[in-house]
Amino acid sequence: MECREFEKKIPQYLKGTLDYETMEAFQEHMNVCAACKEELSIQFLVQEGMKHLENGDSFDLDAEFKNRLESSRRTFRRKGALMEMGEWTVILILFLLGAAAIIIFG
Ligand SMILES: [Zn+2]
Repeated sequence: MECREFEKKIPQYLKGTLDYETMEAFQEHMNVCAACKEELSIQFLVQEGMKHLENGDSFDLDAEFKNRLESSRRTFRRKGALMEMGEWTVILILFLLGAAAIIIFG
């Protein structure tokens, strides 16, 4: 799978609507391509963050993203597929979402 295709599949991955073969190719690419992995984590955090901001409830995005990865990893029972997040990217996004929450909710 190429980066461009990977990016196109991200929304489907987040919705959980990828078929088995695509999911496998998707995860393989994610394991070898740091840029796409980061893109995926960003889109996930933005999507989930926005949902929570709209609901106005509290949340732990970092944990949720790890859960999501963990559950898809379990589904395919692939050893060594555990992902390490770009920690600084996550921290930056959480910071930005926190700032947005403060602006919106005062
Ligand atoms: Zn890529």
